[in-house]
Parts: sequence; C-alpha cells; structure tokens
Amino acid sequence: MLTNDQLSQWDRENFFHPSTHLAQHARGETPTRVITGGEGVFIEDRDGNRLLDAFAGLYCVNVGYGRTEIQEAIAAQAKELAYYHAYVGHGTEASITLSKMVLDRAPKNMSKVYFGLGGSDANETNIKLVWYYNNILGRPEKKKILSRWRGYHGSGLMTGSLTGLEVFHKKFDLPLPMVKHTIAPDYFRREDRSQSEAQFVAHCVSELEALIEREGPDTIAAFIGEPVLGTGGLVPPPAGYWEAIQTVLKKHDILMIADEVVTGFGRLGTMFGSDHYGIESDIITIAKGLTSAYAPLSGSIISDKVWKVLEQGTDENGAIGHGWTYSAHPIGAAAGVANLKLIDSMGLVENAGTMGSYFREAMRDAVGDHAHVGDVRGEGMLCAVELVEDKTDRAFYDPSKKIGPQLAAALLKRKVIGRAMPQADIIGFAPPLCLSKSEADTVVAAMAEAVREVLG
Ligand code: PLP
Repeated sequence: MLTNDQLSQWDRENFFHPSTHLAQHARGETPTRVITGGEGVFIEDRDGNRLLDAFAGLYCVNVGYGRTEIQEAIAAQAKELAYYHAYVGHGTEASITLSKMVLDRAPKNMSKVYFGLGGSDANETNIKLVWYYNNILGRPEKKKILSRWRGYHGSGLMTGSLTGLEVFHKKFDLPLPMVKHTIAPDYFRREDRSQSEAQFVAHCVSELEALIEREGPDTIAAFIGEPVLGTGGLVPPPAGYWEAIQTVLKKHDILMIADEVVTGFGRLGTMFGSDHYGIESDIITIAKGLTSAYAPLSGSIISDKVWKVLEQGTDENGAIGHGWTYSAHPIGAAAGVANLKLIDSMGLVENAGTMGSYFREAMRDAVGDHAHVGDVRGEGMLCAVELVEDKTDRAFYDPSKKIGPQLAAALLKRKVIGRAMPQADIIGFAPPLCLSKSEADTVVAAMAEAVREVLG
C-alpha cells in the first residue's frame, strides 16, 4: 500500500483536479484528501477520520454510501457483460428496465429517456435536441436559450454558458452568444427590499418579458432552470414563481427544460421537482440521484410533444446524429435499477421530506437568531445558511474575508462536511436522503459551534 506522502507527491505531480486552485495544489499548499470508504452518511479518509458527509459528495449519493444492493448489481453486470453500446436499437436488460423505471416515475407527459453520463452532457444533449426540434418545425431562427444568473447546468461549452456563475465564464470566453441570462429568483437578495414576495415574482416576470422582447420571441427556443437553484446558493423559488414564468414561456412558445440533476429522484421530498412545483416540463435533465453516483449515468427525459417532432425528424432525415459510446452504459444502468429500487424500499423520498423539514427547522432554531445569519432556507433535504455582516441592513461580507470557507473549515474540524457555496457566504447542506434524526442533530450542533467560533 502506498504511503500518504507518496500519494500526495504523485497527486501533486500528475493529477489535474476539477474546480481546484491548480497552482496552490501543485505547490502543496492545499491538502490531498484521500477518501477510502463510506457507510450510510459517513465517509472515511486515509488519515482515519470519519466524517459526516452532509453534502452527499456533490449532492449525489442519495441512498448513502456502501449500499451492498448496488455494489452487487454492479459486480453482477460487470461479470455478465461490462459493455455493449446502445446505438441502432441495442440495449441490455438493465438499460431497458431502467428506461421503464424512469418513465414510471416521471411526470405523466413524458415519453422517452436518452441516457448519457453526467449532468453536463445531458444538458448538451437537451440543447441539441431543442435546436433539432425547431429545425424540423421549420423555424431555424428560434435557437437562443434563456437561463438564469446563478443557475448551474454544467461546465461544458454550452452548459458552462447556461451556468450563470462568473467563475465558470471568466477567461473561458463564455457565455456563448446564443445564451441569455435573466435574474435569479432569490427573494432574500432582492434589490428592492420593500418588495413583497408577490411583487418580487412580478419583477422576475417583467425582467423575463423584457429580455424576450429585446431578443425577439421568434429567436428563443428554450428556458432552462433548476426547480430550486442549487450551486447558486440552494434557493427555493418564491411562491408562484414557476407558474408565472411558465405563463410567459407558453405565450411565446418557448420550451421548458427542467434541470433536475439535483432535484430528481427525491431530494425535495417528491420524486421530481417538476411535480413539486407544478412545472410542465418539455425536457427533464437527470443525473446524480439516478444512480446515487455509484456509477456515472445521466438522462434526458423527453416529453410526448418533443418526441413526436424527433420522430418526424428521423422520418425526414434518417437516424438521429447524436450518441455517446457510453450512452446507457450497462454498469451505470445496473446501478440505476438497484438504486431506484432502494430509494423505494428505504422510503427515501418520504424521508427527504419529513427529515429534511426537521433538519431545517432544527438548523433555524440553532443558528437563525445569530447576528450574522441572514437566512436559513431550503426545501426537502436541502438546507442553506446565508451569512451577513449586518442583519438589519442585509449587508454582505467582503468576499475576500472568505467567511463561507472559514465556516466550512470550522465544520470539518468537527468532522462534518458542509459546502461553502461558490457564489457567496452560504453554507450548503444536502445530506444523503437516509439522514436520521440523530445525524441531523449532529450536523446542527456542529454548525452552531462553527458559527460561534468564526462569527462570535
Ligand atoms: N445540472 C445541475 C443542476 C447540477 O447541479 C450539475 C452538477 O452539479 C450539473 C447539471 C452538471 O452535472 P455534472 O457535474 O454531472 O456534469
């Protein structure tokens, strides 16, 4: 077995880590953290630390770590047939079964599922399909995509453009010109603090209307949004937001893509965020919770309305020119089947709702009154604590003070993982959906101590 020092050295010398300060890491100024195991909501590292992972990896290990049911399904699939492609009508029992299981759980207007590997490539697929759709319908000018500032949809060329976070654009020549952003539905951060929630929703709608008018409705193909803003700060929408937004989209014949990479398969206490908020999606993006990250797999769930046009397109033009070598990979599909069964048998959708509410209320009770806690919010098994320098004036900290990262470090000292969200001083929690009451209490107690340590 390699020593920790050897691993650290090889890591520094060879490994290009995502979302990492490359220079600091190469110089050895940031630690190499080697994770060796996990069980339930806990992970272990090579130094023997046992940490409560209250962010479920990257909010993806929904069933928790170490589930033998999924491990065994993966092993059995690897033994039987590790790979075959899905082109020209090929499949495996696992991929065909999973497509049925996904559709059985999806909103009723959904027709088919295309399988990819991760959330980013699924959203790339979605935009290609939307363009194809409008070409088949004879409106080649209807191609622009609307997204929101602080939305997160991946970090490819198109999906990094859809993402509305500066760090994913800066120095990458993004966003691409066909992507246009509108405001984030963040009531806590509204510019005009005199606005009621309903007035703020009306403001979001008028901003969207203005953008559509400026660009020209006939040039806009689709709107993409997460039911609850995720990486942009775990922000549930204000009441009535989705209904109001959809009215505008329908008026201008703009397709709705619900990016449910985080919210799909139970995180909000419902199977899909589209159902949770009454979003009539034309396409739904899924990934993370589809396999609980036991193997890479994503999907684009396509509505009847879009599917009919795709069929027409292939009747007119031949087979669809889209596919990945690893689409519907048998090992990912086997993991997905076992994972969805486990979500049902463990009652995790329900637990996400009930335990998620308990967790958030306990968090609010513990830190909500602190002078530097501006907002405690969330939905289902999502909870965010937003920090402010001055509560009365809702004044935010200078980002250079790195309050969020300091708090995450203080939590880590207490063996709890929370995420310093990239956008602002927000600590995010998205534990596995199997979180128990005592585990929720552990996270809350650690957060209360961390807040006192860092903010007094
Ligand atoms: N969409 C959403 C809502 C996400 O949260 C993420 C990842 O966090 C993605 C897309 C991109 O998924 P991936 O990192 O698997 O490419």
